[in-house]
Amino acid sequence: MTDLAAIARSGPASTAVDLAGLTVEALAALVVELGGKPFQGRQLFRWIHRRGVIDLDAMTDLPKDLRARLAEQAVVRTPEVVRRDVSSDGTTKLLLRLDDGREIEAVFIPDTPSQTFCISTQVGCAMKCVFCLTGTMGLARHLSASEIAGQIRVLARELGFLDRPFNVVLMGMGEPLHNYDATMAALRLIGSADGLHVSPRRVTLSTVGLVPGLDRLAGEDYMPNLAISLHATTEAQRDALVPINRKYSLSDLMAACRRFPLKKRSRITFEYVLLDGVNDTAEDARRLVRLMNGLRAKVNLLPLNAATGIPFGRPADQRVDAFAQILANAHITVSVRKSRGRDIRAACGQLVVDNNN
Ligand code: SAH
Repeated sequence: MTDLAAIARSGPASTAVDLAGLTVEALAALVVELGGKPFQGRQLFRWIHRRGVIDLDAMTDLPKDLRARLAEQAVVRTPEVVRRDVSSDGTTKLLLRLDDGREIEAVFIPDTPSQTFCISTQVGCAMKCVFCLTGTMGLARHLSASEIAGQIRVLARELGFLDRPFNVVLMGMGEPLHNYDATMAALRLIGSADGLHVSPRRVTLSTVGLVPGLDRLAGEDYMPNLAISLHATTEAQRDALVPINRKYSLSDLMAACRRFPLKKRSRITFEYVLLDGVNDTAEDARRLVRLMNGLRAKVNLLPLNAATGIPFGRPADQRVDAFAQILANAHITVSVRKSRGRDIRAACGQLVVDNNN
């Protein structure tokens, strides 16, 4: 049986190795073990990651007997598209089903001004930020490197980007630094010159600020851009909005940002969700200015995407502008995130899937 796609759907009981999660080197070693040549591992990697082909039968430049032996002990797992929602603004949300039946969401956001894929790193999230719908799910499980990279492969294939450049933001469901190893392994898979060759400059990792993870990230050679979900300017306020602050405090987080090795001309993005009457006063803005002092930073304001079950409101545009103006007056680069795909629940903090129990 050489139909890998069929085996890939065979469910979580399967302990077979997932070829889509292996590096070129690991594939080469496996192929050699099965009597093949190292370069055939590279061919296999290119089929999967560059061309998005997961059916072993279609990999016609690999010897038939090698394919048969691979199929006996390995699978190529890939997230299955179960729904595709297209927003009036072109934002496209894919509902993806994983091997064990759990579901995640991945989003394509056109013209921001570039083309951006927003992907998930976990099913649900353990961080429970009080304004985020994903947080209400809790954490069902981590995603594997194959499942994280697989979202990009599927988006690229479905939207015609296998040969066109795109950006990647790790801003879907989950906290990437809580699933550190799989996330970084996935970034190396998509960054490989034998795969989609996505430059780390095109990738942004957004984190709630797990300090040990940030310090580890500082030593990586595949170094994505960094975005920090700050959302508050005092310890008490952040404790209330972003519960993980009780473990990794605002002051520890800012210290980690200050020692983070930034590439030439690059800056840390600080995301700040604006909650009406909660953290959007002039005083908050002035404290934010002081926190940014001496940092190569830019601030991205996210007026709340309100939702039922979220006990906060979105500030009026004037209030958002006034907040932004205080930052701009202090010479801080500030932008207001335009909410995309709200009509299909694809906007920030709105990714949630119900049937993951
Ligand atoms: N866990 C990571 C990745 C999620 S990124 C992180 O926290 O950075 C998603 C971004 O959208 C985060 O900045 C998150 O705080 C923000 N967000 C969550 N809920 C939101 C909402 N309802 N409206 C606007 N932004 C929200």
